[in-house]
Amino acid sequence: MASPDERRHRLLAAALVALVLGAAVYGIGHVRGGTSHAAAADPAATATAPVTPATRPPDPTRPAAGLPALDLPDPTEDLVPRVVPVAAGGLPEVESLLWYPGIPGADELMVGTVSGRIDATRRLFDPQPARREMAPVVALTFDDGPDPRWTPMILQLLAEKNVKATFCLVGYLARRHPELVLAERDQGHVLCDHTEHHVEHLDAAPHDQVVQEVTDGARSIASITGVVPPLYRAPGGHLGPDVIAVARGQGLRVLQWSVDPHDYERPPAAVIAARILSTFRPGAVILLHDGGGDRGETVAAVRIVIDTLKAQGWAFATPMFGPAPP
Ligand SMILES: [Zn+2]
Repeated sequence: MASPDERRHRLLAAALVALVLGAAVYGIGHVRGGTSHAAAADPAATATAPVTPATRPPDPTRPAAGLPALDLPDPTEDLVPRVVPVAAGGLPEVESLLWYPGIPGADELMVGTVSGRIDATRRLFDPQPARREMAPVVALTFDDGPDPRWTPMILQLLAEKNVKATFCLVGYLARRHPELVLAERDQGHVLCDHTEHHVEHLDAAPHDQVVQEVTDGARSIASITGVVPPLYRAPGGHLGPDVIAVARGQGLRVLQWSVDPHDYERPPAAVIAARILSTFRPGAVILLHDGGGDRGETVAAVRIVIDTLKAQGWAFATPMFGPAPP
């Protein structure tokens, strides 16, 4: 024997089936009536044939007394198209290898002019997801600048070799040398937020300091270029969940590296170059420095690495764009 509770559940289930069936019938009628909405969207059509809202048909979805109404669009209101982007997605949370962002897609929504409800969705373009570089291409990245002595040398070398790189800037140094930041941008290099004061172990810092360092670093760059940089790199590579969340929350991709030749310890150029040339692979992100001390050996090593890799048919790219033509 069914208990009163079970009987109530069965009645409710039967009512829901009736509602869903009713909604399906109603939906077919609504699509058929949709031509008037299409006409409304066409200015030429509206000039000759004013749109009259459809009169409300007998409503099979109207529930029996006591049951809640279904949340359906009002058939008497007009619909207007609205195009919305569809995120490309596909980038890893932390990028240690070379990735390129995807291309967003687009959906067209038909939105009720009165209720604001979405009546239908149509895919205009599929998004193209992010792509990892698998070809013989590597990325050079330079941290801790800009520096008035070493950055111009690196820029001159990159221009001479037609190589695009990524510069991870310390905010207060960027504000001290805005002309170097603009030179980097004007030569087509990609800029990256490396915090305002190069605070190492930001992963262990209070949340407020994380927010301030990441935000101020990006703002310092934007105050010079007018554009917020697309990337964040943690000083020392010290990342924690909070740092990653704060950077990504500000729309910054988190850039690590896969090759670290320890150029900041100032070994000879040949050693720096040999460390890179013995560990690189397709899509490698190479960590170098154009600030923070004497970078003479780094400059010389970069020349060796570019010449050697180019001679072997390798190309150079940034996390924003594919490789430049040779
Ligand atoms: Zn650094």
